[in-house]
Amino acid sequence: MRVLIIADVHGNLPALEAVLADAGPVDEIWSLGDLVGYGPHPNEVVQLLRSLPFRSLAGNHDWGATGQADLAVFNADARAACQWTDQTLEQETREYLMGLDTSSVFGSVHVAHGSPREPLWEYLTNVRLAEINFGYFGTQVCLVGHTHVPITFRWHEGVRGIGAFSASVPNDKDDIDPEADRLIFNPGSVGQPRDGDPRAAYACYEPATGRFTFHRVAYDIAATQAAMRVAGLPERLAFRLLYGS
Ligand code: ZN
Repeated sequence: MRVLIIADVHGNLPALEAVLADAGPVDEIWSLGDLVGYGPHPNEVVQLLRSLPFRSLAGNHDWGATGQADLAVFNADARAACQWTDQTLEQETREYLMGLDTSSVFGSVHVAHGSPREPLWEYLTNVRLAEINFGYFGTQVCLVGHTHVPITFRWHEGVRGIGAFSASVPNDKDDIDPEADRLIFNPGSVGQPRDGDPRAAYACYEPATGRFTFHRVAYDIAATQAAMRVAGLPERLAFRLLYGS
């Protein structure tokens, strides 16, 4: 069995299609939330994924685009994109997004959009925050998204004091093996990377071995930008895709 792990697709259909093609055959697809918001293809993204063996969590933008979160907490561009998405969502897509849980256990892996402690909103950006969050889930591994920055936090088995917790940034094709450690792993963003690499990021997971593989794949950024401009989405959101920022 092979599972495709995606996060923060954000309505970017060309990026999602590139990831699906690059990953090849998989048995399941797990999404860590933010299927919509920012990008120009919210309905198309949800419909394509729902035609496959797929399950997802809710992200903060999924809530923002469906009237479940106060848009005042978003910055101006994100708020404008949430409002555009709200007006663009078809009823079936809206109902699907509104039915998503904010955290869950998929297989034997805890999953949350932001963090296990605060599933919709917390950004797990450093080891100190990760250390606290290891207390908020019971499985060996937790998968998160939300920051759009790939990172692995590791709680080293048998190590105490300084060195018990570490963070590392995965590169394309890197293997991530928990061994006896506990992990919080963020596979990065499919539809709006923010780590300076504009390529779509994703991971594959093999439940039999517990191992993950991290991947990057180029996609047709110009096609997404063109669709964003036609939709009238904020220019800064189209521009940033080129820089992965
Ligand atoms: Zn996001």
